[in-house]
Amino acid sequence: MRVLILGGTSEASALGRALIGDGRFDATFSLAGRTQNPARQPLPTRIGGFGGVDGLARYLLENRVDALIDATHPFAVQMTRNAALAARQTAIPLLVVNRPAWEKQPGDLWVTVPDVQTAAQALGTDPRRVLLTIGQKDLSAFASAPCHDYVIRSVDAPHPQSLPPRAEVITARGPFAVSDECALLRRHKVDLLVTKNSGGTATLAKLVAARLLQLPVIMISRPAMPAVETVATVAEALVWLQRRHRPDRRGV
Ligand code: NAP
Repeated sequence: MRVLILGGTSEASALGRALIGDGRFDATFSLAGRTQNPARQPLPTRIGGFGGVDGLARYLLENRVDALIDATHPFAVQMTRNAALAARQTAIPLLVVNRPAWEKQPGDLWVTVPDVQTAAQALGTDPRRVLLTIGQKDLSAFASAPCHDYVIRSVDAPHPQSLPPRAEVITARGPFAVSDECALLRRHKVDLLVTKNSGGTATLAKLVAARLLQLPVIMISRPAMPAVETVATVAEALVWLQRRHRPDRRGV
């Protein structure tokens, strides 16, 4: 059974590892190509966009894909929309793997906002030292809040033109430990953190650290996703694939 996994998350990588050596599945991994040194994948990997919905539909048909797993990041909404439309167009089964969002815990000082632009506005006009952990894509929104000092952490260095005026960049890839996150927040005298509600464990430590140090967090809610069959875990995705596997299908 030919499977295409749309990746870019730890869940996608874990699913890829789980399919290695399983003769029932012939899986290919797909990455957007955003990071310079993506984590090595155990599966054959293609890199780069497909060229929109039609490009993805063409890829699915040309490569005789039997099942599409969208395990992209919860904020990669364009890819998920494209996957939903291409799957409908080609009648290829699609499953989205979407990890649960983080939930506010007792002691958390969260302000929840709907998008990055509102997060920038929510910083207010009193100068603050802000830790921005939202990836590279949406940093330009913070040009509208130039009175703050920013510490920006991302996997790769962002393009200099996307940075707000007073920004220090730290490149690092999770997972992070709570003790290291506390040390980072103290070292940079951070008094507020901005993050997307990515969920998962790899970058959870910053929220625990913010709770311990009683720092406010501006939490950007997830964008609305298309209504497609969705599971929260890799284990559930494996069950879905196993149910769809039919030994009488060509070559399997
Ligand atoms: P996006 O806005 O939803 O997608 C933009 C375009 O990038 C898509 O239309 C597609 O191009 C291409 N693309 C995205 N994911 C792809 C994949 N796995 N394989 C092939 N092409 C892909 O996505 P994004 O927010 O820029 O995220 C890009 C990648 O980074 C995703 O794979 C995501 O899992 C990962 N990521 C994103 C975030 C985040 O905060 N957004 C955080 C961590 C990791 P075409 O239309 O040309 O096919």
